[in-house]
Amino acid sequence: MRAARIAAQHGAKVMLAEEYRVGGTCVIRGCVPKKLLVYASRFRAEFEDAAGYGWDVPQWSFDWPTLTANKDKEIARLEAAYTMTLEKAGVTIVKSRAVVADPQTVQLADGKRVRAAYVLIATGGAPTYGDPIPGIEHAISSNEAFYLQKLPQHVLIQGGGYIALEFAGIFAGLGAHVTVVYRGENILRGFDDDVRAHVRMHMERHGIKVITGCKVAAIEEMGSRYSVRFSNGFEHTADCVMFATGRAPNVAALGLEGAGVETAKTGHIVVDEYMRTRVPSIYAIGDVTNRINLTPVAIREGAAVSETLFGARPTKVDHTNIPTAVFSDPEVGVVGLTEVQARARFARTDIYRAMFRPLKATLSGRDMTVLIKLVVDGTTDRVAGCHIVGEGAAEMIQMAAIAVKMGATKADFDATMALHPTTAEEVVTLRTKSASYAREAAE
Ligand SMILES: Cc1cc2nc3c(=O)[nH]c(=O)nc-3n(C[C@H](O)[C@H](O)[C@H](O)COP(=O)(O)OP(=O)(O)OC[C@H]3O[C@@H](n4cnc5c(N)ncnc54)[C@H](O)[C@@H]3O)c2cc1C
Repeated sequence: MRAARIAAQHGAKVMLAEEYRVGGTCVIRGCVPKKLLVYASRFRAEFEDAAGYGWDVPQWSFDWPTLTANKDKEIARLEAAYTMTLEKAGVTIVKSRAVVADPQTVQLADGKRVRAAYVLIATGGAPTYGDPIPGIEHAISSNEAFYLQKLPQHVLIQGGGYIALEFAGIFAGLGAHVTVVYRGENILRGFDDDVRAHVRMHMERHGIKVITGCKVAAIEEMGSRYSVRFSNGFEHTADCVMFATGRAPNVAALGLEGAGVETAKTGHIVVDEYMRTRVPSIYAIGDVTNRINLTPVAIREGAAVSETLFGARPTKVDHTNIPTAVFSDPEVGVVGLTEVQARARFARTDIYRAMFRPLKATLSGRDMTVLIKLVVDGTTDRVAGCHIVGEGAAEMIQMAAIAVKMGATKADFDATMALHPTTAEEVVTLRTKSASYAREAAE
């Protein structure tokens, strides 16, 4: 959508083919509906916490159909708004699947062939279910989770990444019993070890069961419920089994091979720094190129292609220091290097870490702690990573990311006056170097 709009604004004649709904994964069945469900799930804690602040909240109840109907209405509104913006910019939207017929031709579902100087592939990705197992047809992915007819009472989620943990928090917050099963040694692979330990500890304290080193081996239907057998032989019963085991690029039957577009072993399209494929007239951006699969990255890449091709401004995208969040319970916000990455890269790495009870939790009595961790290049004093777990982490990290991106040093952080009383003030008041929390916990 961004590439189309900017290209049109630069005077290009643009056609956009969409086989499902305008808005893509993010708007229709990704970030936006997910965040709406996250908001919904967090009211439970607010109602519970209110008592400590003197509020007598009458018995509350939750209605899943109301939430999903309101969410669907908002998504439809956004879809219409995006459609209008594109059309206003002069983009022709064709509601059809498109495949590449040759380097300068795409073919639509009705057989019509459209020629263009350039073809931009932004087909995104789709959920994958891992190795085939008996009964896999009973498992849902995030795509279906947004459209469940009723709120399941017992949910089993396989996966340890952000989508698995976000849905675990959503279902648990809305009142379901949730079990997360993940084959690796700990959840949130790729994140800082302190973050992984902290999130898991709090998820478990909040009643989410986390089983690691194990995976689903079979699913059997038993009336309206499912009997799940794990690889360790244990059995589990749930009324919803969700797999959040990864996503694969949407490249099947896209005509890439015939057109000469190179794909990697994992299926993603190989591009250069200007998002150009091996075929000079074909570009690719976003999840289908499997670099950093986040919406703002896809948007930047789309804008860069249009600036390069139609704005006479060759534009690359810098993929370093991209802030990211996990809207789990507790929430995570991170930017930059993990401690392990920093130790592998720098001659000396300094770690600053605070784990504390936020002010809000005092009167509410909620059992929660915030984790703030800075990873610093000990030679240059540059802050190479900032990791936050706790309420507001995502909002905080967007701001911290500016400083990290600009190359701020720990001394710059120290020179910044604290804003009191906030959770974020800890980012600028960390004075003592510390050993890693994960390591301390292990010791
Ligand atoms: C549950 C979930 C939550 C997420 N949460 C976040 C988040 O909080 N923050 C974040 O930054 N990212 C999040 N993401 C990731 C984000 O949605 C993607 O990184 C982003 O949508 C990628 O954009 P894209 O343009 O590459 O592809 P997509 O948004 O997937 O768009 C691809 C579009 O192409 C269409 N299409 C595919 N093949 C064809 C074809 N042959 N012809 C015509 N049309 C076709 C599809 O229907 C789709 O509309 C989330 C993803 C999921 C699944």
